[in-house]
Order: sequence, then C-alpha cells, then structure tokens
Amino acid sequence: MSKWTNEMVKKYDFKFTKSLGQNFLIDDSVLNAIVDSSELTKDDFVIEIGPGVGTLTKELLDRAKSVCAIELDSRLIPILETELAEYENFKLINKDALKVDYEQLTEGEKSIKVVANLPYYVTTPIIAMFLTEGIDFKFLTIMIQKEVAERIDAEPGTKDYGALSILAQYYCDTKIVRMVPCSAFVPRPKVDSIVIRLDRLEKPRIEVKDEKLFFKVVKDAFNMRRKTLWNTMKGIGLDKENLEKAFENAGIDPKRRGETLTIQEFGKLSDCIYELR
Ligand code: SAM
Repeated sequence: MSKWTNEMVKKYDFKFTKSLGQNFLIDDSVLNAIVDSSELTKDDFVIEIGPGVGTLTKELLDRAKSVCAIELDSRLIPILETELAEYENFKLINKDALKVDYEQLTEGEKSIKVVANLPYYVTTPIIAMFLTEGIDFKFLTIMIQKEVAERIDAEPGTKDYGALSILAQYYCDTKIVRMVPCSAFVPRPKVDSIVIRLDRLEKPRIEVKDEKLFFKVVKDAFNMRRKTLWNTMKGIGLDKENLEKAFENAGIDPKRRGETLTIQEFGKLSDCIYELR
C-alpha cells in the first residue's frame, strides 16, 4: 500500500470531494504499472491531470524531464507546492483540465505524454479533447472506469463497441495495461478501473473524405443501436434512392446494425454518402 497517499491525507486532514472524482491511489503495484507503461525518459514532457496529493506526480517527476500537473481543487495546491517543492521540473496549474490551452502549454516540446488517474465524471470529455484537438501527444496512459476502458478497446460485434471505440481507434492504438480493483483507492469507488494506453497513430487509421460526416454517420448509427443501418441513416441528408445507392456503392447491407461495422466500413459508407450529397 502506498504510504504517501495516506500520510498526506492525514497530515493535511484532507476531506475528499466526491463530485470531483477524488479517489486517490493507495496501491503501489498499480502505481508501478502506470509508471512502467509510461516508459518515461529524461526527454519527456508529462501532463498529469488531477495530481491529488501527488502520489503519481512524484514518480513521474523522478523519471521525466518535466511534469505539468493540472488540478482543479484549489485546496490541493498548497499541499502539492509544499510537498513537491524540491522538484525544479514541476509546474502546477490550478484549473479545469478541459479549459487549459494545451497548444501554448506544450509549445516547443517534442515528446509529450499524458499520464493520469482521471476523475470519473470527466473521463470521456478529457479523452475526446486530447484526441480531437490536435494536441501532439505520443500516448495517454490513463486509469479510468473499467466500463469506459472496455468501450475504448472494444471490437465490432461486441456489446461494448460504440462511438467511443471508433473515436479512440480512429486516432490511436489501444491497449489495456491492467485491471484495477476498487480496493486500490481511498475512498473506494463503487466501480473497478482499468489502466489503458492510447498510442497516437501518425495519421488517422483510415482516410475519409469528410471527417465531420464520418463521425456523424458513426454517431447516428450508434444512437439507435437496435435499429438497422437503413433506419439510422434516414436523417443523413440523402433521399431514398441515393441512400440505397450509397449502401450499394459501399457494399454494405442496409439491414445490418451499426455495431457490426468495422471502422473501415464506416469510412466507406460515409465516403459513399458524401459523394451523393
Ligand atoms: N492522481 C491522484 C491519485 O492517483 O491518487 C488523484 C486522482 S483522483 C481520481 C482525480 C483528481 O482529479 C483529483 O485530485 C481531483 O481533484 C482532480 N480533478 C477533478 N476534476 C478535475 C478537472 N476538471 N480538472 C483537473 N483536475 C480535476
């Protein structure tokens, strides 16, 4: 068990705020798994979201060139500033991680890695932000709710496969590092977690004619996942005849459900819809 977390919580009489997703890590084996899979070197600029009392931060600071931690809870700022004062390679920002200018923050950095035990309530928006806003990271090593990790890593035809799987796999290779039981945290959350790594691909996995349309096709297909593709694509902007043609050109049976389509098939369908719009 990690002594650091317990010591800090006790020393500063820290009271957890549930609404901020404050479940601090107390299991050293999980801490080591996150650090090991982050493969840090002295060239790395690390962004940590939600450092808490600095349990993971300290490990990152020992290995990386520099660490910039972004923490929303201002009660944690003096604790982190005091306890991590010896580290010259530490920068702390007291802000909502969704409102940081990452382009400015990472200017001139060549090797950017994001490592975090993310707060549950903003996991998906934070991941989506890193994926879609052109932040030039090498990979994200993140601990998140088990169900979300399984959706990110899911394959076509499975119950977890959905818009989030496509979004993540469009931009990244995904790999589950390890399962984490709820006993690894204080206080214990109701759900288990997973450490997952998302390695950014040099370019998106598939080339599509219109990225916005591609993601709309995906979103519509999964919004009503029990319906056939034909029914989910009715609002995509094609009349019946052209929609039929789009499915035919893509070589996709409109009676299939969205959850059976590979990312390549979604790309083909959206390109064929694009041609006829
Ligand atoms: N890294 C610590 C650990 O592993 O023990 C704490 C992780 S805890 C799951 C999540 C942390 O994120 C908390 O410190 C919480 O205050 C912080 N946090 C919550 N919402 C945030 C946000 N929108 N932006 C930045 N930090 C946030």
